[in-house]
Amino acid sequence: MIRFPDRLIEPCRVFCIGCNYGKHIKELGSTDKDRCIVFMKPGVCLVQPGAEIRIPRDRGMAHHEVELVVAIGREGENIPRENALDHVSGITLGLDLTLRDVQARLKKDGHPWEMCKAFEQSAPLGDFIPYNSSIDLSDIPLTCRVNGMIRQNGNTRDMLFPVDRLIEILSKTWLLRTGDLIFTGTPEGVGPIIKGDEITIESPLIGTFSWRIV
Ligand code: ZN
Repeated sequence: MIRFPDRLIEPCRVFCIGCNYGKHIKELGSTDKDRCIVFMKPGVCLVQPGAEIRIPRDRGMAHHEVELVVAIGREGENIPRENALDHVSGITLGLDLTLRDVQARLKKDGHPWEMCKAFEQSAPLGDFIPYNSSIDLSDIPLTCRVNGMIRQNGNTRDMLFPVDRLIEILSKTWLLRTGDLIFTGTPEGVGPIIKGDEITIESPLIGTFSWRIV
């Protein structure tokens, strides 16, 4: 279930966007794409704030990626960019946890990303705040701390594909439905997490959410 201040909704699909911030693309040694990368995680990967997280063992390095997450509140397909934000009902922050060594191998082999992105508990998710048009989605600061130390400190203004454009793009392939979530990509500063770490993600307007790796 996804927690809104006034209701619970059943998550539908979790869309994730890869390579949406220029400096993050550079830190991974990748190159800019003129098309965005889309992958999905199943809804069962979502983890509520405060829960303990077990990352898969013996799968190499796991990384944190803090991201703005938007919830779709109104169904639509082929949504034009101008109307795209009318379909957003709420926003929060989330972590797109990634098994980075596994991902490097999958990329090299040209294989799909499920084994590095869609594992159990791979999508810790904050509580949603309702979205309205007074909120500027192209100016949302987002930080990630591990054991109190700042690792990521970004702003959605640096997105290569802003939220309205992502909704336009996704809705050309999928009928977007109420309960669909979009993890919108991560800024630079991704790094390893290990057992015992406490990960905290924060944005002034949205809130502060923490998880411990056990
Ligand atoms: Zn990501």
